[in-house]
Amino acid sequence: MSFPIEKFRSLRTPFYYYDTVLLDETLEAIKRELRPNQHVHYAVKACTTPKVLHHITQAGLGADCVSGGEIQACLDAGFPAHRIVYAGVGKSDWEIELGLKAGIFCFNVESIPELEVINELARKLGKTAQVAFRINPNVGAHTHDNITTGLAENKFGIAMEDMVDVVMKTREMTNVECIGLHFHIGSQILEMDDFATLSLRINELQETLESYGIVLPHINVGGGLGIDYKQPDEHPIPDFKAYFSTFNQYLQLRKGQQLHFELGRSIVGQCGSLISRVLYIKQGAVKKFVIIDAGMTDLIRPALYDAYHKVENLTSQEGKECYDVVGPICESSDVFVKNYTLPVTHRGDLVALRSAGAYGEIMASGYNCRPLPKGYTNEDF
Ligand SMILES: *Cc1c(COP(=O)(O)O)cnc(C)c1O
Repeated sequence: MSFPIEKFRSLRTPFYYYDTVLLDETLEAIKRELRPNQHVHYAVKACTTPKVLHHITQAGLGADCVSGGEIQACLDAGFPAHRIVYAGVGKSDWEIELGLKAGIFCFNVESIPELEVINELARKLGKTAQVAFRINPNVGAHTHDNITTGLAENKFGIAMEDMVDVVMKTREMTNVECIGLHFHIGSQILEMDDFATLSLRINELQETLESYGIVLPHINVGGGLGIDYKQPDEHPIPDFKAYFSTFNQYLQLRKGQQLHFELGRSIVGQCGSLISRVLYIKQGAVKKFVIIDAGMTDLIRPALYDAYHKVENLTSQEGKECYDVVGPICESSDVFVKNYTLPVTHRGDLVALRSAGAYGEIMASGYNCRPLPKGYTNEDF
């Protein structure tokens, strides 16, 4: 990726920079793989920067929301309500009402008490809510423990054993209509076998439903496809061919069934970087530190998940030196990389923390009364 470094010099750091050319190429790569009965809903929790959302709406994708705030942001960004799905274990009444009034496509329901509340709120509004049940398929994913969501022990979804009962229950309810099943097994998944396992589990569940005479029109397999954090320049676009073909190969859809995906990280991850300035080079007792003006308040993934982001010095190429790159926040976990080789680095150098488009800017906080980082795109310069 190339950065408009001269433009960067006059800007207040830290800030996020999104390359919408790469974003558009990524969206095109997805659309090339899609069959007519397949639909992608962008998981907006990965990044809601308005200019990024704009490119995604323009590509014709739908949206996957996990809160009322996200539903509102998507409506404001121009996503049509009939392409919005809404998941989450704890939906507040006002959030459900917002979705009902807007006429979103589907509520992905995670418990019976939630189903009853949706039915009641829909009745009061004189509406019928389309719902899908998020089934916990008890499929482990090869990823960080904090971002696996499809195991029986996780808080997400309805147990497989309860699936038939809950689908039957909707038949007695006046203001909900069950239109599908929903799954989401985790995030940053790079083993296609995990998606194959999910597909086989869905096949079993569909057979069980069929034995009760139930065929639902929609299957939603969630998101979770990972990106290459180690080599963002070698793999700027994820292997969507392998991802979609895994489902095409293993998942047995019934006639007319529509297949939905909820990709987040794989759409926006590689197009974003956190740009920061070097404040000081500090020689500690045993280590040399590069102290930058971005911290865990701007990009929390390393502190939260031990995540790796490639660090690139944008303004110095000479020599080599081993550093810990750290932020200014009063927390020992405010470290981006340790024992990391960079060109010899100086105060004032600009650095890029790469692959930060997903779960970056959106997770920023004001801890230490720090201003939130701004988000720019190539179109701003
Ligand atoms: C977070 C989330 C996604 C997107 O996950 P990615 O790993 O970013 O693709 C999809 N569906 C649901 C329900 C989610 O919570």
